[in-house]
Amino acid sequence: MRSLSIFGATGSVGEQTVDLVLRAGGPSAFRTVAVTGGQNITRLARIARDLRAECAVTADPARLGALRDALAGSGIEAAAGPQAIVEAADRPADWVMSAIVGAAGLAPGLRALRHGGTLALANKESLVSAGRLMLAEAAARGARILPVDSEHSAVFQALAGASLEAVARVVLTASGGALRDWPLERLAAATVADAGRHPNWEMGQRITIDSASMFNKAMEVIEARELFGLAPERIEVVIHRESVVHALVGFRDGAMLAHMGSPDMRHAIGYALNWPDRRELPVAPLDLVALGRLTFEAPDPRRYPALMLAREVMAAGGLAGAAFTAAKERALDHFITGRIRFTDMAAIVAAVLDALSRETSPSDALPGLEQVLAMDHLARIRADEAVARQAEKGRAWS
Ligand code: NAD
Ligand code: MG
Repeated sequence: MRSLSIFGATGSVGEQTVDLVLRAGGPSAFRTVAVTGGQNITRLARIARDLRAECAVTADPARLGALRDALAGSGIEAAAGPQAIVEAADRPADWVMSAIVGAAGLAPGLRALRHGGTLALANKESLVSAGRLMLAEAAARGARILPVDSEHSAVFQALAGASLEAVARVVLTASGGALRDWPLERLAAATVADAGRHPNWEMGQRITIDSASMFNKAMEVIEARELFGLAPERIEVVIHRESVVHALVGFRDGAMLAHMGSPDMRHAIGYALNWPDRRELPVAPLDLVALGRLTFEAPDPRRYPALMLAREVMAAGGLAGAAFTAAKERALDHFITGRIRFTDMAAIVAAVLDALSRETSPSDALPGLEQVLAMDHLARIRADEAVARQAEKGRAWS
């Protein structure tokens, strides 16, 4: 029987993974090693019981008692805290879903790679901040990383094993996010609720806001570079409002293969779960005639400055990706708590990248986890400083 673990099981990707595993037979088809979550203990315990997991781990040490109570009588082990989550990744499993949101997904994902097997990777932050490290670890341990981000799953499928030399370009599509039709001058006034309404996809709050700012797409460009080893200039972004074409691969002979499907994450998750097979999934088939037309537009760099920042990060290399994700996460925290405006997020991240490029010296050496985490920590401090400076200036920044 195949064994699996789900990190971030209580989140949007995590819950959809649990749904697919249950539909595929649940405990009669898979041995579930570990499931992890955050604050929602009731959900975590429910998932652990449904899958008959060996252990359940909450990220919050204060909730260990509550988790133990919720698992009473089940025989499922309970644990809590960031270290316990990494230890859960030390329990070998054939298939591991990495669906924790943010930088917290890096250490467990990296640890899971140590045991070989397959890492289904939704946590794009770990590739952006430490792509080289992740790929080196996978290669050294004979592990396989399968992309779960819909665009990257689409590229992986369209590539169908073609050699990199045959690829001229990769085009990632973007919906444009919740604010795509807002006048530019109103963007600064967008609230968390405004930015959190995705036109096409049901996702967690943070990634939905990142879609409105295109920080999500910016991370995905870097993710594509890391995963597929593509030169930055070969990775393009187009706005595609219908979110039906997830990505396209252009080959040297002029052919382009597009991956199409309903905007439903269960396709990409299910593809990674069933790979290399294709099995039936609860995803609505496309009705092309009902769709009628598909549209493509160039993204306006004034609306989406994050895309330019991604180019800077790729040009800088080294630990710039770690600085980028960490600064972005802090800027997003400050936007969600109302300290900065929507448009300030890109300005804060740009200021952090600029400050850190002057403070640190670039290196071609493969960074270790400690160096990545140290850069992450420093970037968060610089982001908080930038936010504080801006508050002092009385919102003079825009
Ligand atoms: P979410 O916010 O819905 O869920 C996040 C999960 O991570 C939850 O289980 C939560 O408990 C856990 N978590 C949060 N903080 C944690 C911490 N500090 N330590 C340990 N666990 C923690 O997020 P999501 O939308 O499911 O996204 C998960 C990842 O997948 C992200 O990296 C996101 O970019 C990526 N992704 C999501 C989608 C989507 O459709 N939601 C699509 C593509 C990629
Ligand atoms: Mg995506």
